[in-house]
Amino acid sequence: MLKIGCHLSSSKGFLAMAETAEKIGGTTFQFFTRNPRGAKAKALDVEDVNRFLERAGQLGIGPIVAHAPYTLNACGAEERVREFALETMADDLARMEYLPGNYYNFHPGSHVKQGAETGIRLIAETLNAVLKPEQHTTVLLETMAGKGSEVGRSFEELREILDRVELSDHMGVCLDTCHVWDGGYDIAGHLDEVLEEFDRVIGLSRLKAVHLNDSQNPLGARKDRHAKIGEGCIGAEALVRVVNHPALRDLPFVLETPNELDGYAREIAFFRERCR
Ligand code: FE
Ligand code: FE
Ligand code: ZN
Repeated sequence: MLKIGCHLSSSKGFLAMAETAEKIGGTTFQFFTRNPRGAKAKALDVEDVNRFLERAGQLGIGPIVAHAPYTLNACGAEERVREFALETMADDLARMEYLPGNYYNFHPGSHVKQGAETGIRLIAETLNAVLKPEQHTTVLLETMAGKGSEVGRSFEELREILDRVELSDHMGVCLDTCHVWDGGYDIAGHLDEVLEEFDRVIGLSRLKAVHLNDSQNPLGARKDRHAKIGEGCIGAEALVRVVNHPALRDLPFVLETPNELDGYAREIAFFRERCR
């Protein structure tokens, strides 16, 4: 069964997200661990989490994807910036232990003129500082569009980060269809070849989740502007092939398209109707 959902607001808590997901036909969802711009996270409501776990079990919802604030930069040039990333990730991962078996996705970072090599080393250092042998969360590197000095546009860069992480059993990759397209991987015309390349460079066993988005920009644009399904340059047909691909079809798919809930409900139904 297709596991699909969308990014949801976490402001009303976990149980509310499960109920919203159900209402729009979702069997997974993604949420920000905290306000993407702000630093402070609300104290975790353990009772809400426990009610969520029970309800999600009944509804067949999960695994779910927590998304780190996108302002984090584990490879920032200033130590203060890197320290904030480290502390936030450590705190998020400690909270995620209340929701074992799920994913924590983050943008690897922007090297801001330090060069990709330094960026990769700093990201791996951060991960080596926050990962714990006993944790129950898999941390995902998101494939990036390559705008500015983003690290993680190429599969090779992601592989280099993974190679430097000691507890790499706790690591995986989340493939964002808009980002890889903007990064120059032609998933519309050559999906099989792109996935073969992913397998050769990173290994498909590392791939744990997919962000399902169309892109406002052409192949290789390095812009990162998401579009609604079928309203962008990738196109609906190509995204239906993504969802049905044997190497991907069992993964959780998360829509991050510019939609309100009714739009997400329509996109979820669209893929369910076309899922083989
Ligand atoms: Fe993201
Ligand atoms: Fe994404
Ligand atoms: Zn994006």
